[in-house]
Amino acid sequence: MIYLDYNATAPLHKNVIKKIQSLKFEDFGNPSSVHKIGRNSKKIVEEVRRNILSILKAKNYDLIFTSGATESNNLAIKGFIKKNNIKTIYSLETEHSSVIDVVKSLDIQKRFFKINTNGTVNLEEIEALLTKEVNPFLVSIMFANNESGIIHPIKEISKIIKKNKGIIHCDGVQSLGKIEIDLDNLDVDLFSISSHKIGGPTGIGALLINNKNNISAEIIGGGQEKNLRSGTENFLGILGFGAVINEVQNLSKICNTEVKNNRDLLESNLKKLSNEIKIFGEDTERLGNTCYFAYPSMTSENQVIALDQKGIFVSSGAACSSGKVEPSHVLKAMKVDDKYIHSAIRVSLGWDSTKDQIETFFNVWKTDCFKNGALNVR
Ligand code: PMP
Repeated sequence: MIYLDYNATAPLHKNVIKKIQSLKFEDFGNPSSVHKIGRNSKKIVEEVRRNILSILKAKNYDLIFTSGATESNNLAIKGFIKKNNIKTIYSLETEHSSVIDVVKSLDIQKRFFKINTNGTVNLEEIEALLTKEVNPFLVSIMFANNESGIIHPIKEISKIIKKNKGIIHCDGVQSLGKIEIDLDNLDVDLFSISSHKIGGPTGIGALLINNKNNISAEIIGGGQEKNLRSGTENFLGILGFGAVINEVQNLSKICNTEVKNNRDLLESNLKKLSNEIKIFGEDTERLGNTCYFAYPSMTSENQVIALDQKGIFVSSGAACSSGKVEPSHVLKAMKVDDKYIHSAIRVSLGWDSTKDQIETFFNVWKTDCFKNGALNVR
């Protein structure tokens, strides 16, 4: 089995399993309970909270545990807008659906910055638009794109936003464990992360916020998480997230060395096969683990199925809850020709993906997709 779909989710890290197995009866309680078991579990929750903040160099931030980045993005955008009477939101058409669908649902002015054909943003256009903005505004921009791996210059964008007295939310999901994160230096106001992208459990994430008085809760009830996210904390999720967060710096280093070397090798092999193979965001700053490419023959779906039959797991782009393959909105925003959009596949390597695995992927793809696909109708 060769798993190359780490941008969708990473396999559970061994530290997480060990940590959960070592849990003692007297540590698993309701963190809000006053008795000793409650206090023990509260202590663990608070340790993980402090640890995440320290590892992401976020000493000026609070952290709210959520059910994942989808909830963090909802809370950041809706919660901030509600509390601050925001009149305009800016975002990108290439955002994850948990941002783009929230933005589209809002009853305020929405604007999208242009995406260049290589997937980058245009800082001059951002500056020009924000300088003219008269309303209080929020900008929601992802650090790295989940499909293409393209990294946006968040620090520069944040400077422009701050100069124009706006607020910035950053979906940091794909940056965790893949690029260095120094939140105090990035200077974003709200930052979303998710545990399962680095080998922690699914269903646990967080919103980091530099001023917790600036958002209102989406989920109300018992007042947990500083009154910003009611509901008994996902204790096992938090414990598991805590067991893997210590690895983040090491993972980022690996991603930018060994993983990137393997990814680059794969891309150079692909390019040697045919100059009709397109690698999206090739000349742009990208995550070291992501190779998003297309050869205009077999559909994305058929390639994913063909590879699956050989025990190789990749994706056609963004994972969709229905399992259906929709044409990528990211590639559409990059004005990619339809014939490439319909044949794009995303190979996202993990920290432990080996050179052998990448070579096997390449050989199987060459035989089962490239050569067979060439016989299909274009
Ligand atoms: N944002 C991005 C960029 C993502 O890649 C994902 C996961 N596909 C999410 C948000 C949603 O994260 P979660 O699965 O934790 O809800």
